[in-house]
Amino acid sequence: MSIKLQGFAIVTHGGAGEPLEFTDGCERAAQRGREMMRETGDALDAAIAAVLVFEEDERFNAGTGSVLCLDGATIEMDAAIMDTRGRLGAVAALRDVRNPILLARAIADTPHVLLAGEGAERFARHMGLERAQPIRDSQREKHDKVLKELAGSEPMMPGVDNRMFERFWNYRTPLQLPPSAAHDTVGAVVRGPDGHFAVAGSTGGSAPSLLGRVGDTPIVGSGFYAGPLGAVAATGIGEHIIRHMLARTVYGWIEQGMPLQQALQRAIDLIDKDADTGLIAVTKTEAASCSNTHMPTGTIVE
Ligand code: ASP
Repeated sequence: MSIKLQGFAIVTHGGAGEPLEFTDGCERAAQRGREMMRETGDALDAAIAAVLVFEEDERFNAGTGSVLCLDGATIEMDAAIMDTRGRLGAVAALRDVRNPILLARAIADTPHVLLAGEGAERFARHMGLERAQPIRDSQREKHDKVLKELAGSEPMMPGVDNRMFERFWNYRTPLQLPPSAAHDTVGAVVRGPDGHFAVAGSTGGSAPSLLGRVGDTPIVGSGFYAGPLGAVAATGIGEHIIRHMLARTVYGWIEQGMPLQQALQRAIDLIDKDADTGLIAVTKTEAASCSNTHMPTGTIVE
């Protein structure tokens, strides 16, 4: 899908491989982004407002809906923001913050671009951000499903034997597979009527994964990128996306003048077909999404 346009534009996604029934959440996020654009006139504020809607909707793997790590007790989240006013902030493997996207935004005002681990948590406390909610039944149900699939012979990460997780297990508690997948990110790209671009993304990570695993979502140029010609966000298995620096690769093709839909499709074609992958982007004249699987999106163009 590609739409020609020139004013305000926002595209949101709820994760590659997520059911299309979740499209209402993506549309609500886009709508909230538009409202924020009207309130503050800042493309980055709009992108963050959209992602906050996802982080508060427990159907999506971000913020309050984040997947549990393989130990069934830990949550590790990544998030990032970037815009054409020079703001760039990311957080990795964050455990105890309700809205990681707000921490990514706060980090953009520090001397750094990426915080992780204890320092990120302490900075969140310093900024007065709300702590994560207690783990809910919906998260436990998703976790049980991951464990069942991991116990099976079908690889949960294309090209990776499920037993690798057993072999390299690094949690405090022992692996407890039942006798016998989850990933996804949310994101928003925005073009302001003033010509500024912004991107925001947030994820509860991918499952299965070892403790401490960080995906593409907080890695500039891989899960996200914004420059004077547009903004791009990716979703899928971070290990695949990072290898191709997917968001910056798409941006490079935009710089060369390639039509947006063609650039997105070409990037999707770089990735193993078994790995669910999706992209959203806005440029000066276009707004588009592309994926190799079902991916709920929301788009508003004015
Ligand atoms: N890209 C995210 C990650 O690998 C997950 C996703 O987008 O589905 O952490």
